[in-house]
Amino acid sequence: MGWGMWRIYRPDIIPAWKHPETKKRLSWYYQVALNQKPAKYLICKHISAETNPFRLGEEELWALHKDLKQKFSNALEEVEKGSLSFNELEKSEHSFLDVKVALVKHMITHCNFCERRCGVNREKGERGFCRQTSQTYVSSWFHHFGEEAPLVSVPGLSGQGGSGTIFFISCNFRCVFCQNYTISQEYERYGEGDPVDPQMLAKIATILRKEGAPNINYVGGDPTPSAHTIIESLRYMDVNTPLLWNSNMYCSQELMEILVDLIDIWLPDFKYFSDECAQKLSNAPNYFQIVSRNHLMAHQHGDIIIRHLVLPNHLDCCTIPLLNWIAKNLPRALVNIMQQYRPEYLVARYPNRYKEIARRPTRAEMERAYAEAQKLGIVYEPVS
Ligand code: SF4
Repeated sequence: MGWGMWRIYRPDIIPAWKHPETKKRLSWYYQVALNQKPAKYLICKHISAETNPFRLGEEELWALHKDLKQKFSNALEEVEKGSLSFNELEKSEHSFLDVKVALVKHMITHCNFCERRCGVNREKGERGFCRQTSQTYVSSWFHHFGEEAPLVSVPGLSGQGGSGTIFFISCNFRCVFCQNYTISQEYERYGEGDPVDPQMLAKIATILRKEGAPNINYVGGDPTPSAHTIIESLRYMDVNTPLLWNSNMYCSQELMEILVDLIDIWLPDFKYFSDECAQKLSNAPNYFQIVSRNHLMAHQHGDIIIRHLVLPNHLDCCTIPLLNWIAKNLPRALVNIMQQYRPEYLVARYPNRYKEIARRPTRAEMERAYAEAQKLGIVYEPVS
């Protein structure tokens, strides 16, 4: 799509940004996208670590991470208030970002990136539930014009727009209705994509941003199994851009501790309220406790747009109680109540086995979801 063509194909973008809640709730993202503030990862690069983190053990690294997190939070607060300019931050040989890189290098040797906690040494070629060694694969990357309106363009930003989206192979869920199953679950059959290293990934993100992407959108499958490459790639980047984590939010608390200081805007999928549904349809044990914890952390640390895909026949067990939980616990979040579910992948192959979700949601189901959100005061997409 050519320069500014989003104005024709996405007429919802300008009204979305005119809605007072969009700018208010996405204010950090908005300012970073327009280069009025530095991205969080750039601030991390300017928080000095006195020692070389690559020589430390994991326990020492976590202690150092805790200390530097405090320094980072103070600096971020000053930057947000405008009492500290980015240029005043010093750059030293080793940084808070390096500590994070060193930590994920340890973590991947007993992988605990997500709450599967497989414990395998992916560096040595072992594979856990997500079937990935330490080699990261990208299936595609491009300017995505189908994302939520505020993510496709920010008025005032020059360039072609489109969320700068990077699709990683593999996932730590097994959703029976996955629309992206060719890259999340059946990639051995459909193609593994291209192997990337941190330097290549940094180059891809830089190109997307320089061409006018308002954000860099890490997605999959799920980006969690590729977290080590994503985080290390930031060492080779210096372009100012909001970083966006587009995920099922099943990552471990340890990985969340690392990510919250790097991610400017979160785009999580919050699928279920019921653990029974999560287990049956995504093979995700203990879903609600893990995913709600991670949403709370994300909400505390950044701007957030929650996606909730309405599943047919799952209003009473999932959609309605989940919207109530979000209204109570995540009041700053924008919510995209998604109506585009259709039977795909295993549901399409075996409709009798998954009878209850083998159809699209009805208009009545969608209207009930929207009415509940309205009643709860949730600001939901389309924001116009
Ligand atoms: S990312 Fe998750 S699923 Fe993959 S090996 Fe690590 S803990 Fe297991």
